[in-house]
Amino acid sequence: MYACSPRWSNHWISIDDLSKVLRGLAKFFPRGDGSIRGVNYGLHLTGGEPFLNFDLLLRGVEIAEHYGLCAKFVETNCFWCRDMETVRERLRRLKDAGLDGMLISVNPFVIEHVPFENIERGIRGSIEIFGVRNTLVYHPAFYEQLTRLNIRGKLSFEDYLAKMLRTDPEGITASFSPYILLPMGRLPYRLGHLYRRYPARRFLGYSCLEELTRPWHIHVDCYCNYIPGYCAGISLGDARKLDEIVQGVELDDKPILEALAKGLHELYRLAVEEYGYRELKEGYISKCHLCLDIRRHIVMNTDEYKELQPREFYYRL
Ligand code: SF4
Repeated sequence: MYACSPRWSNHWISIDDLSKVLRGLAKFFPRGDGSIRGVNYGLHLTGGEPFLNFDLLLRGVEIAEHYGLCAKFVETNCFWCRDMETVRERLRRLKDAGLDGMLISVNPFVIEHVPFENIERGIRGSIEIFGVRNTLVYHPAFYEQLTRLNIRGKLSFEDYLAKMLRTDPEGITASFSPYILLPMGRLPYRLGHLYRRYPARRFLGYSCLEELTRPWHIHVDCYCNYIPGYCAGISLGDARKLDEIVQGVELDDKPILEALAKGLHELYRLAVEEYGYRELKEGYISKCHLCLDIRRHIVMNTDEYKELQPREFYYRL
C-alpha cells in the first residue's frame, strides 16, 4: 500500500520530530489500560521495517510510554528473527521499555524475501514475551494458508499462486478479498491483471470526504506527513502540528484535497484539463486505483501540490 522498497532514500524520523508527534497524539488518544487489541486500535510503530533501526525503535517505545500512549505495538516482517536468542533479547528490551505487543506481518509478499521460519520464530518469541493476546498475526488467513502449504524458506509469488491453485483455489479468492488485500497502492500496478477492471466512469461518483476525515487508523510517516486512512501519497499537513489539523484543514491552497472531498469526478476533470491525463484503456480495479493513477500522473508533471507527499511514494510504485 505504501510502496515500500529498499530503493527508497535512507531517511528516518528524528527523535525530536517523533517526540513532537507522539506528544501531540497523546492528547487525542483514548485513555485506558490498553486491554483492547487490534489492528485499528492503539499506537503501532512500523516502517518500512522498524527493526532496521532498533535503537530508534526502542527510543520510540520509550517516548510513547513517557506520554502515556496505550496499546503500543510494533509491526515487523521478521527479517531479523534469525535465531530465538536474538528474538527474545530484542523483544524483552522493547517490553521493558513499555511495549505491549507485536504485530507480525504474514502474507505472500513478505515470504518472497523473508524465510517462513523467521516468521514462525517471531510469532513464538512474541507469544513467549507478550502472551498470545498481545501477539497479532496479520493476516491470519495468509498465516493459515502458508502453514497448511508447509512452506520452508522463501517462496516467489508465482510459486505461491501455483501451489494455491493446486490445493486451495477458493482460498485465493477468499484472501484476495478487498477487506484483506486493499486494492490500492502498488497492488493495482503489480497484480491488477488478477482483478476485474472497470472504466473510470464507474468510480467518478465517489467522494472521499469520509476517508479523508475519519478519526481512526491514520498514519504519520518519517517526514511527519499526516496521512489519512490508507491514502498513501496524500498529506493533510504536518503531524507535528496536530492541533491545527484537528481544527480543520484549509483547502484553498490544496486543490487536490478539495477535489477529492467533492468527488473523484473533480480530480479526474482537473487532471484531464490541466495535465492531459488519459483514462487507462485496460480500466481500473478500484476507485483508489483511479485516484492514485491520476495523482501519479499529476506528480510526474508538476510539483505544485503540497498535499501530494511524499513524492518518492509515486516514484516507487
Ligand atoms: S480514492 Fe483516493 S482519497 Fe479516496 S480512499 Fe482511495 S486513495 Fe483515498
